Amino acid sequence: MVAFQSTIALRTGNTMPVLGLGTWQLTRDTADTVRYALELGYRMIDTSGDYGTQPAIAEAIGRCAISRQALFVVTKGRGNRRCLPSHQKNLAELELEYVDLMLIHRPPETGVGKELWEGLIQAKRDSLTKDIGVSNYAVEQIRALAGRTSELPVVNQIEWTPFGYSRHMLDFCQENHIIVQAYSPLTRAERLQDKTLCDLANIYGKTPAQLLIRWNLQLGTVPLPKANRKEHLKENPDVFGFRIGHDEMAELNALNEHYSSLGSLPYA
Ligand code: NAP
Repeated sequence: MVAFQSTIALRTGNTMPVLGLGTWQLTRDTADTVRYALELGYRMIDTSGDYGTQPAIAEAIGRCAISRQALFVVTKGRGNRRCLPSHQKNLAELELEYVDLMLIHRPPETGVGKELWEGLIQAKRDSLTKDIGVSNYAVEQIRALAGRTSELPVVNQIEWTPFGYSRHMLDFCQENHIIVQAYSPLTRAERLQDKTLCDLANIYGKTPAQLLIRWNLQLGTVPLPKANRKEHLKENPDVFGFRIGHDEMAELNALNEHYSSLGSLPYA
């Protein structure tokens, strides 16, 4: 059975933890929160130059005894042209020589981001990142990006819960060895009271948040729950000792209404 320290293979041969820590709006003492998460066993940290959390993540990594190779750091860049400079700034804030995964945060307003993607391909060549990917991309946008550069992303990071996901996206990603990283996997706490979700969670003696995380693991998608509170940080990875049954997975899958806690699913 998959465990907290399990990893998933990327197309490039590198591996990525099956569960990560989100850090958007991590408003409590961020360095202390990340340090505690690392102590609990989290090894993947998701951030962005936009989140304002990178300097505190650097502090937490600097203070922990975990080797750099055992950590998996994800960051994101943006900009209308090449995003290489924004990634260099990210690395400086993180006090790292490389990250494990650099993403285009979202497609630009026009086009699919060919120049941004070329910037990332260059960042990979320069060993600033081990892998490159995208976020908030639709299937057609990924096809167009890959068609022009002949390099596919290893990850598409998108909002992803039983209330809002896309079978078409999952099929496309699986066929092309692209891993879906699930952001806002807990619906930003907005749907945790949903009756069907709560009833299903009760069957396993788990919380609604844990069921949402476990649903991702069984789908082969990689959740990035964020938590300020220590009890949440501890609760969220406690999902490796049970398995959602076939019928219950189907019930969760049937909750899909293309729901987004952020307004809309840009990929659906
Ligand atoms: P989320 O992880 O779905 O939800 C976070 C909320 O859930 C917080 O209010 C948190 O409370 C609460 N929570 C955490 N664990 C809980 C538990 N066990 N029981 C009850 N409530 C719990 O939302 P998110 O932060 O939007 O998404 C996660 C990460 O995805 C982000 O932090 C970021 O790294 C990434 N993301 C990426 C993009 C993108 O465009 N690429 C967009 C959005 C998010 P406390 O904080 O009080 O513990």
